Amino acid sequence: MRKLLIVLGLCKLSIISFAQNEDSMMIRHIADEILVNGKAYDNLHDLTKNIGGRLTGSPQMYKAEAWGQKAMNVSGADKVWLQECKVPHWIRGGKDEASFNVKMKKNPAKLDVIALGNSIGTGPKGVSAEVIEVRSFDELEAKKEEIKGKIVFYNYKFNPTFIRTFLSYADAVQYRGYGPSRAAKYGAVAVIVRSMTHSTDNIPHTGATRYNDSLPKIPAIAVGLKDADLLDSILQKQKISVFIKTNGQFLPDTIGHNVIGELTGTEFPGEIITVGGHLDSWDPAEGAHDDGAGVVQTMEVLRTLKALGYHPRHTIRFVLFANEENGTRGADKYAEEAKAKNEKHIFALETDAGGFTPRGFGFTGSPEQMARLRSWIPLLIPYGVYEIEDGGGGADIDPLNKALNTPMSELAPDTQRYFDYHHARTDVFENVNKRELELGAINMAALIYLVDKYGL
Ligand SMILES: [Zn+2]
Repeated sequence: MRKLLIVLGLCKLSIISFAQNEDSMMIRHIADEILVNGKAYDNLHDLTKNIGGRLTGSPQMYKAEAWGQKAMNVSGADKVWLQECKVPHWIRGGKDEASFNVKMKKNPAKLDVIALGNSIGTGPKGVSAEVIEVRSFDELEAKKEEIKGKIVFYNYKFNPTFIRTFLSYADAVQYRGYGPSRAAKYGAVAVIVRSMTHSTDNIPHTGATRYNDSLPKIPAIAVGLKDADLLDSILQKQKISVFIKTNGQFLPDTIGHNVIGELTGTEFPGEIITVGGHLDSWDPAEGAHDDGAGVVQTMEVLRTLKALGYHPRHTIRFVLFANEENGTRGADKYAEEAKAKNEKHIFALETDAGGFTPRGFGFTGSPEQMARLRSWIPLLIPYGVYEIEDGGGGADIDPLNKALNTPMSELAPDTQRYFDYHHARTDVFENVNKRELELGAINMAALIYLVDKYGL
């Protein structure tokens, strides 16, 4: 009996190692296909240079939708369609400007600024007022009696002690999101926000602000770190007034689309795996890392599985989501329709953290599912992924997770440079590295293959 158990044990072991060999060979094929014949980098060039920034509602957004539809077909999807959704239509409306006067100097000094997304404009005459600096919401509350009629300058620093920079972002982004309304509550006339970045340049970073509808809406701009430090040092010594002119406004909601491609499952066509990134991007740049990289990686997973003649057991959907940056209406629509149609979604993977060297995945699901994912790490280590972090998903798949409890994951690349470019005019094709972009796509394709083969 003991002998039989040993023999059975050995059989089981050899079955496991045979499966691991088969999997490691398949992942090697995936990697070779992407590293030798990859289209992600060329696709990114095309998207960023021929279309550029793709703000929701802009003509470039519609061009990008048509581009995505075509690229899905070329990459080999069995089916491609557009999923319509209502989207907000905010426009920047022109060049954002700001300047200030220092005593004894004749000409005003210019600040390099950008209006926050969704913010209202100042009107053609601009706004000029004395600046009051606060380093936190606590300080705003402490100074609330002094705010009326002034421009509030939120000089909250991106925390340098977090090693993962997304934690610094999560910590600081409240000032961009809620700073304008909280200042308006005490009578501020405009807001200046220190950019959420560690970048050593002086380039300002935009991103969505969210007004509280019960309070007056006031204009809001971001400044880069050098200008933030300059304002701070001057304000230590003297009072200054800043002039701001911005032109943002909301037009009526318009129509946008998620672009969806599908490889239909051979065994479980009714069970869906979603992989995606967002097609829209902020306007001052080309949206290369955010999230052009995710768009072309998504497409590359499709192209590679198809090129290798892989027939998935489950249906795999490749989704380029609409309107992540200032509304997530695409993500909401995708989840809403999945729920209304009673679809079964077994897994969703998002890529929206830049085209940098992959290091891991984040995962939100049950402990058993997490254990299964972690058991695959040895297969991914040769391609750079060495950890599955607890938690993770992303703005585009969170609604699916909420609606259907779908387990979700996100590609987690190295984060050190992401916020140098995030929502800034430096988020351009030239700042994406071909190899790093491709390695992200390899690990995504490998994970999708493993989930498809074994389920979760
Ligand atoms: Zn993004």
